[in-house]
Amino acid sequence: MSRKCFTAPTGVPEVVAAASLALAVMQSARAERWADVVADAREIARDIALTGDQVSLLNRHAGALALLRARSGSTASIAGCPECGRFQIAASTVKTCLATTGCTGAMVRAVPARAS
Ligand SMILES: [Zn+2]
Repeated sequence: MSRKCFTAPTGVPEVVAAASLALAVMQSARAERWADVVADAREIARDIALTGDQVSLLNRHAGALALLRARSGSTASIAGCPECGRFQIAASTVKTCLATTGCTGAMVRAVPARAS
């Protein structure tokens, strides 16, 4: 059986791309938290293939990924701001940036990356 691959979205803040990829991995591995994926990385790598660039991306944003939760029926995601580069927890769609006072950036919420 070949391993699953995912494609992170492009044209979004990097932290959002990392969160999208992480959510896809978490759902596929049935892990509620990113820490569960990290703890079982060797086991999960048998089923899911990540490129070196993807691993680097995930490692760069480990702090943000710690906020993600993937439970059946409820996903806690993050939204990133393309203007100020900050992010926040987002259970549902966030329209304007709340991470930085006065910022008018349009937040982008991470959704699970698609399989490729
Ligand atoms: Zn902002």
